[in-house]
Amino acid sequence: MTEGKRKPVIVVHGGAGRWHPERSQAGLEGVKRAAKTGFDVLAHDGSAVDAVVEAVAVMEDEGAFNAGYGSSLNIEKKVEMEASVMDGKTLEAGAAGLLRDIKNPVRLAKIVMEKTDHVFVVGEGAEKLAEIFNLERRKPVTELRLKYYEQQKEALINGRFELPKLAELVKVHPELFELETVGAVALDKGGNVAAATSTGGFPLKLPGRIGDSPLIGCGTYADNQSGACSATGIGEIAIRLVLAKTVCNYMENGKTAQEAVELAIRLVNRRMPAVYNSMGLIAVDTYGRIGAAHNSQNLCWAYITPEKREPVAALTAKILR
Ligand code: ASP
Repeated sequence: MTEGKRKPVIVVHGGAGRWHPERSQAGLEGVKRAAKTGFDVLAHDGSAVDAVVEAVAVMEDEGAFNAGYGSSLNIEKKVEMEASVMDGKTLEAGAAGLLRDIKNPVRLAKIVMEKTDHVFVVGEGAEKLAEIFNLERRKPVTELRLKYYEQQKEALINGRFELPKLAELVKVHPELFELETVGAVALDKGGNVAAATSTGGFPLKLPGRIGDSPLIGCGTYADNQSGACSATGIGEIAIRLVLAKTVCNYMENGKTAQEAVELAIRLVNRRMPAVYNSMGLIAVDTYGRIGAAHNSQNLCWAYITPEKREPVAALTAKILR
């Protein structure tokens, strides 16, 4: 299905992983605000692309998530943010990576999509593009992230946190991966879907490491012939399973959004068993049905459907282990 009058729907996530009680309220409030902002765009006849970008930008500004302000620090105590967006109507996509101080990485991803012939621009080139388009800057480092960095570094020094043995790391210290990437998927009144994802990447990552979030097909995918998906969790898993596209393939083959995300989480469990319990997925199909599933302890997410005009938020969805 491609065109036609649809009732708008939005689903957002604020990341998989473990949500500590001290931060849960801020997370839930943040995803609700994001869902509301995105839905307002749709309600005023805005496009699915604008809805997911505005929703993600809200979460990038919150400070409660690992995206934009409040992003995780890499091993050199620096932030390298990344984001992507995809338009299911045209299959156009944009992504940006290795960003140091762009206030809203998702807005730069949209600029890459709309104003360049490319899909993915990183580092200095991306920073230059942001300058040309006068994107706002903001230092993304927060006190909370500095605290986490010191805790994680101490664990690393004491041999309890070793890169690049990610499997061992997560098994022994799941608390080190407080994954709070953000994402959104939407269906607009024209029947178009879109997805966007933004992150600081996982803590203590190597400089230059790129995760799934800016990679089209891995962390983000949208196609009017199937639906839209945004992923969160250990990026290397989503990359190796091309997870967001896999979810869309399931929907294209007739699965509902919920069936599709569940199948994809089962795929993760089957193909990358046990050690990595950290993936989360949200999706919307072209009929406006929504899906959310994870194998992580939590998934902070929210949605608004035509039946529920106010955002519904939770720290878990369907858990599959
Ligand atoms: N997927 C992100 C990454 O690996 C992390 C996250 O979802 O929080 O960079």
